[in-house]
Amino acid sequence: RSIKRPSLDELTHGIDQSDRMMLSRAITIVESKLASDQQLATKLLDSVIHKTGKSVRIGITGVPGVGKSTFIESFGTHLTALGKKLAVLSIDPSSSLTKGSILGDKTRMTHLSQNSNAFIRPSPAGTSLGGVAQKTRESILLCEAAGFDVILVETVGVGQSETAVRDMVDFFLLLMIAGGGDELQGIKRGIMEMADALVINKADGNNLKPANQAKKAYENALHLFPPHESGWTVPVKTCSAIKNEGILEIWSTIETYMSTSTESGYLTRQREAQNVKWMHELIRARLETNFFGDPAMKDKITQITKKVAAGELGVRHAVNSLFS
Ligand code: GDP
Repeated sequence: RSIKRPSLDELTHGIDQSDRMMLSRAITIVESKLASDQQLATKLLDSVIHKTGKSVRIGITGVPGVGKSTFIESFGTHLTALGKKLAVLSIDPSSSLTKGSILGDKTRMTHLSQNSNAFIRPSPAGTSLGGVAQKTRESILLCEAAGFDVILVETVGVGQSETAVRDMVDFFLLLMIAGGGDELQGIKRGIMEMADALVINKADGNNLKPANQAKKAYENALHLFPPHESGWTVPVKTCSAIKNEGILEIWSTIETYMSTSTESGYLTRQREAQNVKWMHELIRARLETNFFGDPAMKDKITQITKKVAAGELGVRHAVNSLFS
């Protein structure tokens, strides 16, 4: 198969010029499974790495219907009005596992997608969640090199991909709505514990009062949580994405967080720890690919599987035989 790719120079130059088309093609190369693309991706990342790391990396999650795309549209429009450049990347485990998409990227964020200071990239399809997360990390770096000031990584709050996103961003925002209890919203306590801010959306019209009540309830609930590692007090905010209310306040909360955690050194420590964890994930992934990809090993596993299933071989002995 031959696919016409831009050269390394073209890609590097395009990214340098903040050319969204080139950025998009660069991400396609990073996402590609072709060995030649992967070699090009390694070189490309090497050539832009010195320009990375300067953005505010924000993760956002929430169950379908909570208003993520409406929020991002409003948030993004505010940010670009402030002169910021915003990239939106999404991780949608549904699209990678079943090819159907919960985030339904095509029709979303119609205004923002026409904004020249915004870049929107849907989730890569057809890989495991782990694979998608790896690619998204590298896409973040490419967007940073292309001069994007804020990177928003969006995921669906259904309990699979939040940890992956948490591990690649500086600030993790959980979007919720009033009315449904935690169970109803499918929000696990674990996801709440990962959040640096809780935001209750749809605080408008008849929903204003319940939203404020929910805010109080969540504030109380947060007191029972272990304190944030950085000393940060996790705020609960309300907003109306559709009416553009409370959106700038959320941005200023994030700015406050970024400046305090930069000063304290927490941000640097967190990014270092994230990189080390990422490296270990890659090592594990590589080991797995090598191990299970080896034809001799495949044969051995097929054989012992039959014996184990038939009760002829104990599981411990079976596994030991692979490593002896
Ligand atoms: P997503 O699935 O989380 O991306 O949610 P959407 O952004 O698609 O929003 C789901 C529905 O909630 C849509 O009908 C939106 O118009 C509506 N919605 C989103 N934000 C608000 C808001 O702030 N107030 C109200 N009243 N409705 C909203």
